[in-house]
Amino acid sequence: MTDQSTANALQDSTPASGESVPVRQRKPDWIRVKAPTSKGYDETRKLMRDLKLNTVCEEAACPNIGECWTKKHATVMILGDVCTRACAFCNVKTGMPRAVDVTEPGHVAEAAARLGLEHIVITSVDRDDLPDGGAGQFVKVIRALREQTPHTTIEILTPDFRGKMVAAVEAIVAAGPDVYNHNLETVPRLYPTIRPGARYYASLRLLEEVKRHDPRVFTKSGVMLGLGEGRLEVHQVMDDMRTAGIDFLTMGQYLQPTPKHTKVIEFVTPQAFSAYGAIARAKGFLQVAASPLTRSSYHAGEDFAQMRAARELQLAKTGQLAKVQLAKTAKLAG
Ligand code: SF4
Repeated sequence: MTDQSTANALQDSTPASGESVPVRQRKPDWIRVKAPTSKGYDETRKLMRDLKLNTVCEEAACPNIGECWTKKHATVMILGDVCTRACAFCNVKTGMPRAVDVTEPGHVAEAAARLGLEHIVITSVDRDDLPDGGAGQFVKVIRALREQTPHTTIEILTPDFRGKMVAAVEAIVAAGPDVYNHNLETVPRLYPTIRPGARYYASLRLLEEVKRHDPRVFTKSGVMLGLGEGRLEVHQVMDDMRTAGIDFLTMGQYLQPTPKHTKVIEFVTPQAFSAYGAIARAKGFLQVAASPLTRSSYHAGEDFAQMRAARELQLAKTGQLAKVQLAKTAKLAG
């Protein structure tokens, strides 16, 4: 990197004044959430325990668990609860995972059926220890869901399948998920400290690869804010995502799960999130969710329905436009 580009990077990474508040011990009011107590919450929890399923809601200490589980919306985390990576922001345990549970696909499908889910989100830990990175288990889960709950739409949130990405994406996309999500998490400058085991451009390529295999699959990605990223850096990530054809962007506030994890650098205000959301919409994403409590799977079902409607509208407009152009050409020719 040249001196000038270093200077530019520093300038671009400076948080915009007036758009954030300095981090302090207590979380700002807009982050506070209610304690998770409700009948729906208890029922969701019991079902997950009965079926021996892990959820990212619990493992990531998600602040929305009270709201989501009350509505029977949980994000199932397959392939165990031990991850082979150690990202600085993530609360999931790191170590040597156990063998893959062959009963898991059936249990996930049973959970979807018993919860009556219209839309399900499935994620996993990273399994760099497996020859296929865990792609085969995603395929089995998608097939089990299609068989047992054919009307449930399926959203998957996968790791980057380092070194095994092309085969993994090909197999998973062939199984036919409705939404393929893979989070970029942060701006490329912060990867060495926040996501040291991953590569920004490899993650972008994964999402491009999904579209290359099947353009009908919606692609989705997200970033956490408050890690020290700059406004222009975030705009650049949006541009990179659009270039990769990503349909849906999620942006939420990073929260430090324990004192051992990377610190929050700033609490981005709800107004700043709205401004980022407006810019993202102007850049052409079909769907954008941007708020302090937004997480990849927050309101995923409602957002999926909106995104599908937005695509249908876009296709209808494109079709009408094509008809008008054809009519104009025919008139000129006549
Ligand atoms: S936002 Fe996602 S991870 Fe958090 S509780 Fe809701 S479903 Fe679970």
